[in-house]
Amino acid sequence: MPSISSPNDPGQPEHRLDLRLPVDCPRCHGKHIASVAALVVPQPLFFGGPADAPSRWTLGLSCPIVGRAFDADIALPVDEGVQVRRVDVISVDPVPDPALPVGDGNQPPTTATDPSAAAWLTAEFDEWRKSSGLTLRGFAASMLSTSTGAVAVYFAILKYAGLERISGGWRVLTIGPAVLFLASAATWVLALRPGLAWAYDVAEFADYRRRRLVAARRLTDVGLGLFLAAVAFAIAILAAVML
Ligand SMILES: [Zn+2]
Repeated sequence: MPSISSPNDPGQPEHRLDLRLPVDCPRCHGKHIASVAALVVPQPLFFGGPADAPSRWTLGLSCPIVGRAFDADIALPVDEGVQVRRVDVISVDPVPDPALPVGDGNQPPTTATDPSAAAWLTAEFDEWRKSSGLTLRGFAASMLSTSTGAVAVYFAILKYAGLERISGGWRVLTIGPAVLFLASAATWVLALRPGLAWAYDVAEFADYRRRRLVAARRLTDVGLGLFLAAVAFAIAILAAVML
């Protein structure tokens, strides 16, 4: 902090305010951020307040785009109880970064990260979080129609392969894959079944949602196992019939 002595008021403690000020540039007609250091002195307020706005300053700035100087009349964001002694322009930045706070020099600048990668991952995270239930339901719905449809397909192929060639007690076995397909279908129905719960706040809802998703995921494991077992069983039966 540079110490600048003030001849007319040597006793008052000056201190420095770092400010980031948005300015409209008349040279390139864009917006810039001027970083300035203001030397201020605490000022007792008299009755009636300050006569004019003491925080208005005309700053000599230079456009960072086209490099031409211009004057900007700016209201400094300082308290009414301080007197601005001097304003030093530190830099003028071409593009205001929306992530940076404007007009408040007390906050440290945000750490530089790759904004595109972070934004992309955040968007992807939101998308996954939003669609996870939907993905599960979509999968369960398609598996429900697949496993019920598989029953009809299985019997059609079995008839074509020659069901009548199987005799007696062995015939009972041919119904096995159909039973497994139907059991799988029942599991998908359970996975799709709407839930009912009372959630009084977000935390309760989040807990319920998590439990629902975990339970539905377990049902899809069971349904998928039954479905694959049914397919294997059906292949074995058809092979036995045709050979
Ligand atoms: Zn400019």
